[in-house]
Amino acid sequence: ISFAHFGFDDPLIDTIRKHGYTEPTGIQRQAVPVALSGRDIIGIAKTGSGKTAAFIWPMLVHMMDQEELAKGDGPIGLILAPTRELAHQIYLEAKKFAKAYSIKVSVVYGGAPKGDQFKELRAGGVEIVVATPGRLIDLVKMKATNLHRVSFLVLDEADRMFDLGFEPQVRSVCNAVRPDRQTLLFSATFKKHIERLASDVLTDPVRISI
Ligand code: AMP
Repeated sequence: ISFAHFGFDDPLIDTIRKHGYTEPTGIQRQAVPVALSGRDIIGIAKTGSGKTAAFIWPMLVHMMDQEELAKGDGPIGLILAPTRELAHQIYLEAKKFAKAYSIKVSVVYGGAPKGDQFKELRAGGVEIVVATPGRLIDLVKMKATNLHRVSFLVLDEADRMFDLGFEPQVRSVCNAVRPDRQTLLFSATFKKHIERLASDVLTDPVRISI
């Protein structure tokens, strides 16, 4: 199975190849077709598995299908991550591929001044936001951006977000995003509290574990 089997268009396939990816990883093979079909996913996968691209590629395809891409403001794709380090890694991976369509990606996280993050979101034109939950909520409260257009939501390393005490913030963001969104939840472990979150924020999810 190659990237062409996913039905990706030439700009995306060229960009993937340009970055030296020759074939999909296991999680990509399993998750990409399911995500492209529009289903919600619970993915049990660790960092290093290629899970970031497994959600970024379908997010980009989803966005290219949106008629409102050029109109309105606020991101269409939103990714929550537990730490600034992970958020930054996801941002770099997202930027690689978003380039294929000139889609703009921003990253916001706590532990850094709000000013520049506020300005970047406020300037508009940002279609994908990678964020740690608390900082995102602060910036939305400050009206730097809004979540009205988000229709593709990813919760990455959900177990670590819970370990760090972000459960209320994660739930608050999920409640603020339109209910007919597509949601992908990734976690390295799948315990009771993650099970509860999954049943609260996902709709009829497909379970994938590698
Ligand atoms: P992740 O698990 O998403 O953090 O990805 C781990 C590393 O694998 C990152 O450096 C990715 O750029 C890289 N990667 C992801 N998918 C592929 C692929 N299909 N082929 C080669 N490298 C990949």
